[in-house]
Amino acid sequence: NVSPAVPSTTPATWLGVMGGGQLGRMFAHAAQSMGFKVAVLEAEQDCPAGQVADRLLQAPYDDARALAELGGLCAAVTTEFENVSAKSLAALAAHTFVAPAASGVSIAQDRTAEKAFFTECGSRSGVLPAPHAVINADSDIAALSPDLLPGILKTARMGYDGKGQVRVRTLDEVRSAFAGMNGVTCVLEKMLPLAYEISVLVARGADGNAVVYPIAENVHRDGILFTTTVPGPNVKTASAEQAQQAALQIIGSLAYVGVLCIEFFVLQDGSLVVNEMAPRPHNSGHYTIDACVTSQFEQQARAMARLPLGDTRQHSPAVMLNILGDVWFDGDTLREPAWDQVLALPGAHVHLYGKAEARRGRKMGHVTFTAATVDVAQQQLTAACGILG
Ligand code: ADP
Ligand code: MG
Repeated sequence: NVSPAVPSTTPATWLGVMGGGQLGRMFAHAAQSMGFKVAVLEAEQDCPAGQVADRLLQAPYDDARALAELGGLCAAVTTEFENVSAKSLAALAAHTFVAPAASGVSIAQDRTAEKAFFTECGSRSGVLPAPHAVINADSDIAALSPDLLPGILKTARMGYDGKGQVRVRTLDEVRSAFAGMNGVTCVLEKMLPLAYEISVLVARGADGNAVVYPIAENVHRDGILFTTTVPGPNVKTASAEQAQQAALQIIGSLAYVGVLCIEFFVLQDGSLVVNEMAPRPHNSGHYTIDACVTSQFEQQARAMARLPLGDTRQHSPAVMLNILGDVWFDGDTLREPAWDQVLALPGAHVHLYGKAEARRGRKMGHVTFTAATVDVAQQQLTAACGILG
């Protein structure tokens, strides 16, 4: 709970965000529409959040002067980029209210800490992470249980969108994959028979009140989120409730303030496994902008401003399609995608992030389709995929 010495803020004050990407941009849109001014700290001049911020502090995330300036200006600061060092967040906390706090972010930044934390939470919720082992050195590989193979070797830090991961079948493959990671600490995870993947968005206010969003069903392609469907066609009520309970337990035991997204696997036998968490709004929660009473970004602003959290109820079935830079390419030539045709589809909500350069695999925007039923929304998404090629 927040100390009573810290007054709650009302709109017309500044909120700050570490990081200039699309999550910061959508946060700025939500916060500004509530009357807040938004400051962004980011080293890049032309960035999605910087384009819309009331002020851009152009500096590295660990620049002590910029952190002091951001902290002095803003009533609260959050992060949109999970690899902002916990040290920078701790430094900011000397000047202002930081939500989420460095302690929660640092667990989410390190798969070894995250898995240890999930294992501890699992003793109460019954939802455990995948069987795994930490590899710090070659000598740890000889000691591995053969039961962890085939598996996935993941770097402990800085991995995202399937980067920093190698699939391995034998101890020799683990050795060469580990050598390829340049000696950084890794986690070897047993490859599990997934039926489908879900994520749970939760938010917790400074008063300790926590709320949970509906379960999102996610499909990945080449390690990158491809679609999110809510309600998910495969999701069973029992696993949905179990995942929501586990997520609420996780956010509560971190005493976390802000928006947190937790990814789970549902295995072919129906059991639930907790995979990883992001200490911020998440790509799989973008559908909340168009389909829920309160978007994940408005919720983030409310939590950091110590205002009451909003209603998480979904008012329309929704599917979200990520738009990668690939759709700008016709072979080797660049062309603008046919947004007019996509927008002609009923229920289409196009969101583009203002990135100047389309690159393959780069997240450029997303489209959410809302409709009276999830089947209709899925048909529109299929039509959009046909248009975008
Ligand atoms: P990232 O940080 O890149 O999102 P994840 O741990 O979520 O890393 O892994 C990316 C994807 O790889 C997952 O969404 C899932 O499809 C697959 N995956 C990861 N771990 C496992 C596992 N233990 N068993 C089976 N599939 C996995
Ligand atoms: Mg993931």
